[in-house]
Amino acid sequence: MNWQRNLKISNNQPLKDKTTMRIGGAAQFFCQPQDLKELRMFISWAEKGSIPVFVLGAGSNLLINDKGVKGLVLKLSSAFFTAIELKGNSIEAGSGVKVSRLIKFSLDKSLTGLEFLSGIPGTLGGAVMMNAGCWGKDIAEIVSQVKVMDLKGRIKTLKDKDISFGYRKSGLEKYIILKARIRLKKSTRGFIECNIKDHLLKRRNSQDLTFRSAGCIFKNPKLESAGKLIELCGLKGKRIGGAFISPRHANFILNSGNANSKDVLKLISLMKKRVRNKFRLFLEPEIKIWG
Ligand SMILES: Cc1cc2nc3c(=O)[nH]c(=O)nc-3n(C[C@H](O)[C@H](O)[C@H](O)COP(=O)(O)OP(=O)(O)OC[C@H]3O[C@@H](n4cnc5c(N)ncnc54)[C@H](O)[C@@H]3O)c2cc1C
Repeated sequence: MNWQRNLKISNNQPLKDKTTMRIGGAAQFFCQPQDLKELRMFISWAEKGSIPVFVLGAGSNLLINDKGVKGLVLKLSSAFFTAIELKGNSIEAGSGVKVSRLIKFSLDKSLTGLEFLSGIPGTLGGAVMMNAGCWGKDIAEIVSQVKVMDLKGRIKTLKDKDISFGYRKSGLEKYIILKARIRLKKSTRGFIECNIKDHLLKRRNSQDLTFRSAGCIFKNPKLESAGKLIELCGLKGKRIGGAFISPRHANFILNSGNANSKDVLKLISLMKKRVRNKFRLFLEPEIKIWG
């Protein structure tokens, strides 16, 4: 069919630079749909060829295999998927909008509630999918509805009560997140600015931002800190190839510049093994591993 010939799909698109870890091979197929019509065409093309579909946000919670990803990687970064609208005291934004831009927008509108996410380098879509959070709060607390598309191209609006948010999960894995509406409250610019500064400072004091990473590798087991457990196994600073465990925050794996996915995966296995042997606790990865 004609529309299939017109689809702009690149082959072997390198993904490394589209992740915060700067690791990984190429996408077999890659596309950046301009709008919903194009998005539907891409997923229909993939479905016809039984090609798996992956949605890439800012790649800040991802480890991509050096061998690359077999399938179609979608990036929702066009103007359509990055629009922000004010709806009373709520903000409705496309899933491709960076969390940092959303926070800036809420500051400009004197709306409070998003500041706790300051410093998270992801998109709104990634934050909703992962139920991103910190300092005892997560995005589920302020999401009022999410617009999604399933892999048949059907669009649905899910209310917060219909979404099974949990610790770093949303239950939305079978969907492409298109938009989300965030419930905020009126405040003053000064108050919001102060909150943002505080949260950024807390982050700088507790996380390791000196080298490229994907944030925390593991979820915290109940009542425990994964970072503390890894630290108690004596693994801070442990290096494999170009990857090493942060000497500051043991739940961060850092890329010294030339790390590959194998180095990171070996460190992940080592961390899991040591914690299991010493504490009889199973560490579940928070990051998504592709390929
Ligand atoms: C320095 C640093 C600090 C961090 N601190 C925190 C923190 O404090 N708290 C926290 O929770 N996380 C933290 N993270 C992890 C990460 O930033 C968040 O999980 C973020 O929300 C991921 O968003 P992303 O757009 O980068 O998603 P990606 O990494 O691109 O994707 C993550 C998952 O979401 C899916 N996804 C992304 N967009 C969509 C969409 N539109 N539709 C469907 N699926 C989608 C992907 O397919 C993938 O499964 C940190 C990361 C770094 C590098």
